[in-house]
Amino acid sequence: MEVGVSGISLSLNLSGLRQQDDDEEVMERDLIIIGGGPAGFTAGLYAGRAQLKPLVMVGQAFGGQAATTSEMENYPGFPDGIGGMALAEQMANHAIRFGAEIAYEEVTSVDLKTYPFVVKTYGATYHAKAIIICTGTKPRYLGVPGEKKFIGRGVSFCATCDGYFYQDKTVVVVGGGDSALDEGLYLTRFAKEVIIVHRRDKLRAGAILQQRAMANDKIRFVWNTVIDEVLGDNTVTGVRVHDVKTGEESVMDADGVFIYVGLTPNTQLFEGQIDLTPEGYIITDKRQRTSAPGVYAAGDVQDPYFRQVVVAAGAGAAAAIEAERWLAEKAFEEREAQVETEQRGAS
Ligand code: NAP
Repeated sequence: MEVGVSGISLSLNLSGLRQQDDDEEVMERDLIIIGGGPAGFTAGLYAGRAQLKPLVMVGQAFGGQAATTSEMENYPGFPDGIGGMALAEQMANHAIRFGAEIAYEEVTSVDLKTYPFVVKTYGATYHAKAIIICTGTKPRYLGVPGEKKFIGRGVSFCATCDGYFYQDKTVVVVGGGDSALDEGLYLTRFAKEVIIVHRRDKLRAGAILQQRAMANDKIRFVWNTVIDEVLGDNTVTGVRVHDVKTGEESVMDADGVFIYVGLTPNTQLFEGQIDLTPEGYIITDKRQRTSAPGVYAAGDVQDPYFRQVVVAAGAGAAAAIEAERWLAEKAFEEREAQVETEQRGAS
């Protein structure tokens, strides 16, 4: 995804360059933050203010899942709401103002078993004394025929990005959580009809969103129904569904299908190196510490419970505070050890 981000500088810190045996340049950092969503930028802000000169590696998904939300109404301090991307930009600029650097680099591998830790991107190798993982989540797939085939041709996971293309069209939204209702409501700005297909007869979404969706004339709910296939030729023409109670099959005509059936944590890079839950979320303690000393995690990548922007931001702040303390203690211990060695050498 190409994102134009106003007022944010792309920067690569070339200080602390070191030559590796194979002539590859290695960049030394005290702290690398992987992920540029609310947790990553808040960690960058706190670490910047702690003079750690953190590098926030954003990859391609600037702002994370939060940036795909059209209107955020529950982030404190914005009583009239704020767009997800606008909030992400403000957070990034705030972190930059206090010394964080943003790199639009995709991390390709991480080695947490050596120290300093090794972080590789397509073009560079970094050594980091501490790492904060804020890689967030990605949308879960339904796993039905036609879903992947029609991505970009009628299947979407982001109403904010693609809703505009559905002026006066009919769209199906799959799911019964906050995302399905939030994005379904957003789609009513464009579409003539939004059909929310949910596998149960009770919504998981919060009360306010439920009330708004129920009151919206453009939204129609289809209960106890699952999608079996996304249909189309060049673009989506509809979905084949069945009623889970009666087993009855039918085809619903639609021009687009927006899928909101939950999220999967982005932890593939860390598998086998730190402890994960069976669902793939990073396990942290109350101080955002992972099973590897010096490695912290914050935000949705370690939070299957709340998954709120304000919670992710708070966890990012906590992780940065912890990382700063750990680095200071480590530096102190190293200095002590050095003095001891020198004293032994002198006697
Ligand atoms: P979610 O809360 O996990 O909801 C996923 C929905 O998809 C559920 O209704 C689930 O059905 C359904 N589902 C799951 N697998 C399915 C399948 N294979 N086929 C059909 N339906 C399936 O995910 P989310 O809505 O993306 O929300 C994620 C988190 O972000 C939540 O914590 C949410 O509160 C938060 N969020 C908050 C806001 C807000 O505050 N405005 C907005 C967006 C998201 P069941 O209900 O039957 O399990």
